[in-house]
Amino acid sequence: MVEQLDELYREVILEHFKNPTHSGELPDAQIRASGVNPLCGDELAFHVKLRDGRLERVRFRGKGCVISQAAASMLATQLEGKTVREAERIMDAMKGLMKGQEPDASADLGDLEALAGVRKFPVRIKCAALSWNVVEQGLEAHAHGGH
Ligand code: ZN
Repeated sequence: MVEQLDELYREVILEHFKNPTHSGELPDAQIRASGVNPLCGDELAFHVKLRDGRLERVRFRGKGCVISQAAASMLATQLEGKTVREAERIMDAMKGLMKGQEPDASADLGDLEALAGVRKFPVRIKCAALSWNVVEQGLEAHAHGGH
């Protein structure tokens, strides 16, 4: 059990929780999306500034457990500078990873791979998934919003 918890709270996860690199807001963001995970009380809001088909800047604000906030920090870090297509591939890979699939080798997951240990804790998957669910919802709303 101790080993499993070690896997859940890996050093890189704690580091993102303690020192999130992409927290904040973007006044000129085209995408603003937020969501909650009521099972745990996690809240996240993402701001994304798009430019030339890329997620030029990604910032988040939130509160909640270590997993939810670390996942948001990792996701913001990893998505910034990516094209929308690359971002979608990363988020699809994370959804697969949570289901126990091997990540698509073409998806650049970076620190997000540290979240693989979360899948052993089914109630915590929703904590991790909140971040990509919110960003995906924002991207989809933007794509269909006619901006
Ligand atoms: Zn949580």
